Amino acid sequence: STRELLKNIDAYVADLYAPADEALTAALRESERAGLPQINVSASEGKLLQMLVEISGSRRALEIGTLGGYSAIHFARALPDDGRLISLELEERHAEVARRNIERAGLSERVEIRVGDARDALAGLVENGEGPFDLIFIDADKEGYPEYLDWSMRLSRPGTLILGDNAIRGGSVMDPDDPSSRAMREFNEKLAKDPRLSALVLPLIRDRIDGLAIARVLEP
Ligand code: SAM
Repeated sequence: STRELLKNIDAYVADLYAPADEALTAALRESERAGLPQINVSASEGKLLQMLVEISGSRRALEIGTLGGYSAIHFARALPDDGRLISLELEERHAEVARRNIERAGLSERVEIRVGDARDALAGLVENGEGPFDLIFIDADKEGYPEYLDWSMRLSRPGTLILGDNAIRGGSVMDPDDPSSRAMREFNEKLAKDPRLSALVLPLIRDRIDGLAIARVLEP
């Protein structure tokens, strides 16, 4: 089936270009053991995130949606020694698992997890003048994406990269009758039409086709 083919291609590419090491394997194992949902980025997408940090020379990164810290480990590894990732997570239970996974990977110094609704955390970041960030990764509740994009703009400088996961969702974003993808469709339209941004969606495969939205802030 197509699903099998996509899975096999993803595995082939990941085995070659993004083989798991001990810390990443342990992070996934411990997340599963703790009963966290297995909705982390794929190994290849993790590698892409890592490379985007490296290529952009980012020092300050922001993540919305930590889960077990799998993507956070990729970000933190790509940051320079004095770099910092702030990652926002609603569930204390997820944050706890993530802290352990990040600690095991030897990256605790570079990562700060803030627990609570991302909306409040983002407002706090703006209020306290903790921006701008060099790179912002949106990967939390899909309903929040349009709002998270607005906050991200307020935490950006010219050149900031704003990334949004799950921009295609197996094609459901194209179906105006699918309520679960309504906010993602709105997010895509906002990204595409905002003259302050230069953006695209990079299709990615797993067991279905999804995508990473990549936007460069021209003028916040
Ligand atoms: N970035 C992670 C990775 O690839 O390893 C995966 C993140 S997972 C798709 C989404 C996370 O967002 C979940 O852990 C969920 O608890 C969190 N989340 C959901 N709603 C949130 C909110 N309003 N504020 C902050 N985090 C939220």
